[in-house]
Amino acid sequence: MSALEPQALIPLLAPLASLRGIGPERAALLAKASGGERVLDLLFHLPSAYVDRRERPSIRDLVPGRIATVAVEVVRHEPPGRPRHPWRVTVTDGTGFADMVFFRPVGLERLTPKRKLLVSGKVELFQGRPVLTHPDFIVPAEQADRLPPVEPIWGLTGGLPPRAMASAVAQALERLPALPEWHDAALMRRERWPAFVDAMRALHAPAEVPEPASRRRLAYDELLAQQVALLVVRGRVRARPGRPHVGDGSLRAKALARFGHALTDSQVQALAEIDADLAAPRRMLRLLQGDVGSGKTIVALMAMLRAVEAGAQAALMAPTEVLAKQHHRTLSHLSPEPVALLTGSVTGRARALLLRQLADGDVRMVVGTHALFQDAVAYRDLGVAVIDEQHRFGVQERLSLGDKGALTDVLVMTATPIPRTVLLAQWGEMDVSRLEGKPAGRQPVRTTLHSLSTLPDVLDGIARAIERGAQVFWVCPLVAESEALDLAAARQRHIALRDRFGGIVGLAHGQQPAEERDAALAAFARGDLRVLVATTVIEVGVDVPEASVMVIEHAERFGLAQLHQLRGRVGRGAAASYCLLLHGDDLEEGGRKRLGVLRETDDGFRIADEDFRARGGGDLLGTRQAGDPDWRIAHPVDDEGLLHMARQDAAVLLERDPALSSERGRAVRVLLRLFDRAQAMRMLLAG
Ligand code: ADP
Ligand code: MG
Repeated sequence: MSALEPQALIPLLAPLASLRGIGPERAALLAKASGGERVLDLLFHLPSAYVDRRERPSIRDLVPGRIATVAVEVVRHEPPGRPRHPWRVTVTDGTGFADMVFFRPVGLERLTPKRKLLVSGKVELFQGRPVLTHPDFIVPAEQADRLPPVEPIWGLTGGLPPRAMASAVAQALERLPALPEWHDAALMRRERWPAFVDAMRALHAPAEVPEPASRRRLAYDELLAQQVALLVVRGRVRARPGRPHVGDGSLRAKALARFGHALTDSQVQALAEIDADLAAPRRMLRLLQGDVGSGKTIVALMAMLRAVEAGAQAALMAPTEVLAKQHHRTLSHLSPEPVALLTGSVTGRARALLLRQLADGDVRMVVGTHALFQDAVAYRDLGVAVIDEQHRFGVQERLSLGDKGALTDVLVMTATPIPRTVLLAQWGEMDVSRLEGKPAGRQPVRTTLHSLSTLPDVLDGIARAIERGAQVFWVCPLVAESEALDLAAARQRHIALRDRFGGIVGLAHGQQPAEERDAALAAFARGDLRVLVATTVIEVGVDVPEASVMVIEHAERFGLAQLHQLRGRVGRGAAASYCLLLHGDDLEEGGRKRLGVLRETDDGFRIADEDFRARGGGDLLGTRQAGDPDWRIAHPVDDEGLLHMARQDAAVLLERDPALSSERGRAVRVLLRLFDRAQAMRMLLAG
């Protein structure tokens, strides 16, 4: 097929509200459920399961909780005896009886006794008998073809009915144009993959339960787009020469004196690796991996000060405003060179002044959020960019800070012990330094499991700890799917704890106005508040050394890696520290074993490993809480083989056709646009 008209993709890249019958509110719900705002994002939101309505179990074999289709005969009607009671229609298939239950009894006249029907819907058990409440389908037995054979089930969000999702997806499918094939023909034959459009149809509008090939093909599309984009962007980054940063060590010496501790062996080693990169005439692209509390901040500061010693500027980017402020406090305290702060809330004249100082080079050190790499921000000479907690940022954002200076060295810090495969997938061959162990003097956190039914005892223990002067983090889960309920639960916990402990209990969560949340965090940091109830806003990085007790409610709803990060918020000071994992009363053996890993070990890598195995890495990548846009279809464990294929494929492709101008190359450009690899596209076009 020849090249695609560029306009052909416009209907897919259009916002969801461009679909018929979808207003702004519905569009927002669809965007929330599918994780993106374009029509195409809906197509990338693949069904999580399929209902097969062709199976015909007998009534005797019905399983409560499952959707089933039964062939039955009407026995009798039982009108409601009292208002607001339902209308009942009893049916049988000779193996037993079942009831259909209707709260809105319309059109039931046609269900005359002896009538043969196919009834399909969710089965529940009521007084020992299977019940289908408002079945999804009731069709005459001779019209079985009116039942959809296989129905996809999409992930939804509160307020979004399944039918709305189905109709939006159906419209989105109609918008798919014929697309050129971007995969190698031999590969397509070998894998027996359908074309992109056919795979989409097979998954979203199936006539059969789809073959794995359809999903695998789309996963491979996603991985190939990512790998090509990475190689294009990195090729650019690497192609630019770096320059050596050498310094006299004067600023570093002062900072170390203020720090007051000797660096650990591991810190010394990591710093030596960073220094070698900085001194070399090529760009640094290095990941500093270290568990929570392993002491990454001082290493970052040393790298930044080296840039300043060499006459350049340095910036540190954090994923949230709270963390940016905290880094700003820490660095200001240690750095002999003044450190500026640039976040979204620095506005007006203060912002204008700071931007001027960054452009002039008057400000040499700056800490901030995404605000640091907006187009309006120019640096006189950005030598070193440090990016904290990279899993919160997308690949493109991570690299664009490095783009602020033609020669900027980039250091990425993360507490997530990212497995090697994922690292390769997201970064290609990035250099890695690791901080092993913790600075001396830190005590292990005693971790215990408690059923929520023993809450009164737990609270007595907390009361004693507060009397001894401890500060307590109390974390409640918050996930997108049940956000409103989760928030209500956190607020309720706050009220209950305040009733018990009084005004020393504060509340911090992501839905508060930023000032309110920051005020609560600051009061906790000062020690005015002794207990802080929080959703996972404190998950990454908030440093209150005096906090020595971490309570995590419904710990079974968190990933292990995340629990480990949370636990890392305590045990930073000299006091003995505790982590109490509260779980629901009905926790199963498997869940208990999973949480037990935390009791056994403090080794972040081992914990991540267990987590990765148990949950397929979703939590590690932050998809559950943070939403990494890099992975919509591909699965980091199941599709590892595809990932390696895509890496090689991308490398060979770009080696043969660096500008993507061959026929396949032009098709791959379409792929990049579909998977939103805008920056890679810009670079290709510019080059
Ligand atoms: P993280 O790796 O989680 O960012 P931090 O840099 O915040 O860890 O360090 C955790 C704590 O350990 C901080 O309170 C820090 O001051 C302290 N720390 C870091 N390095 C050392 C060291 N070499 N000796 C003693 N304490 C240290
Ligand atoms: Mg940190």
